[in-house]
Amino acid sequence: MGDMVVVRKEGLYCVPGDFYIDPWRPVDRAVITHAHGDHARWGHKHYLASNQSVNILKSRLGADINIDGLAYGDRIVHNGVAVSLHPAGHVLGSAQVRMEYEGEIWVASGDYKVEPDATCAPFEAVRCHTFITESTFGLPIYRWDPQQEVYDDINAWWRRNADEGRTSVLYAYAFGKAQRILSGLDTSIGPIVCHGAVEPLNRVYREGGVELPPTRLVSETGKDEMKRALVLAPPSAAGSTWTRRFGDYSDAFASGWMLLRGARRRRGVDRGFVLSDHADWPGLLSAIEATGAHQVVVTHGSIPVMVRWLCQIGLDAKAFDTEYGDEDDEATGSAAPEEGESHKGAADKAEAKDA
Ligand SMILES: [Zn+2]
Ligand SMILES: [Zn+2]
Repeated sequence: MGDMVVVRKEGLYCVPGDFYIDPWRPVDRAVITHAHGDHARWGHKHYLASNQSVNILKSRLGADINIDGLAYGDRIVHNGVAVSLHPAGHVLGSAQVRMEYEGEIWVASGDYKVEPDATCAPFEAVRCHTFITESTFGLPIYRWDPQQEVYDDINAWWRRNADEGRTSVLYAYAFGKAQRILSGLDTSIGPIVCHGAVEPLNRVYREGGVELPPTRLVSETGKDEMKRALVLAPPSAAGSTWTRRFGDYSDAFASGWMLLRGARRRRGVDRGFVLSDHADWPGLLSAIEATGAHQVVVTHGSIPVMVRWLCQIGLDAKAFDTEYGDEDDEATGSAAPEEGESHKGAADKAEAKDA
C-alpha cells in the first residue's frame, strides 16, 4: 500500500479512511487535533475531535457545527481505518490522531509539548510506524527552562511592579497560553484581571474541570486595585487604547519566540518570558524516538533542519507542505513572514539574524 496519509490541496488526507486531518480548506469529514485557528477552520461538513475540544470548537466556530466528540483512547472505525485520539499536551482537548489500517499504524501529532502542565492532559507517546510531527521549534537552540522557573520569574516581576504601584500587563495567546499562565500565578500578590478575549476561554476551561485562580474584568476592578493587578491580554492589545488606560504600567510577552533577542525588540515590551506550548528541540526528539516510528513526516516549523537531523540518525524522514502557522505569531496579525518568526523555516532566518 502507498502512504496512508498524503497532503492534498485541502490538507492532510487519510487515503483509505477518506477523511482529512486539520484541513485548511472546507471538506466533508475533518478530524481536528485542537482548536487553534490554523488547525480548526470553519466550513467543514462534519467534525470529529476530542470530547474536551467540542465546546471550544463550538465557541470558536459556531454552536451549529456538525461535530462528534471522542474520548481519549476510544476507537471508531471509519472505512476500515481504526481512529483514536491521544493527548498531545498542547492545550485543553489537544489530540494526536492514531490511524490503523491493515496492520499499519500512522500517528499525526498536531501541535504538542512533552512537559506536563496543569491545564491539559499530558502528552502520550503512541507507538506507530509513521509519525507525522510538527517542528515549530525544531532547532537545537530551542531549549525551555522548566515551567516553574518561568512562573517564578513572572511572579517576581509582578510583585516588584505591584510594590511600586504599577500595573503588570502580560500578553499571551488567549486560548491555552493564558490559562497555563493563570495556573502558575501567585494570587497573594494582587488581583488577576483578564481581557474580554481571554475570560470566555477561562470559562470553557473551568467548565472542562480545569482549576484556575479567580479572574475578573477591568470593569470589575477599582482604580487602586489595578495598581497591584496582573492583566492578561492577547498580543493584539499591545499598544492599544485598551492598554494605555492603565497609565503607568509594565508590559511583557510570553512566548517561545522570546528566546530570540530580535523578537523581544520587535515586540517593544519591557520583558519577555520564554514559555511555549510547543515541544523544544530535545522534546521533539524524545517524542519522535518514543513513537518507535521508522518513518517521520515533518509538517510545520523548521522543516529542513529537522528532516536533515532525522535522516542523519537513520530515520526515513520527509516533509509535508502545509498551511499551519504558529498561534503566538498569528495572534498579532502584524508579523509578516519575512520579518517575524512565522512558519516554514522563518525561524532559521531569525536565528541567523540574532545569533
Ligand atoms: Zn496549536
Ligand atoms: Zn500548529
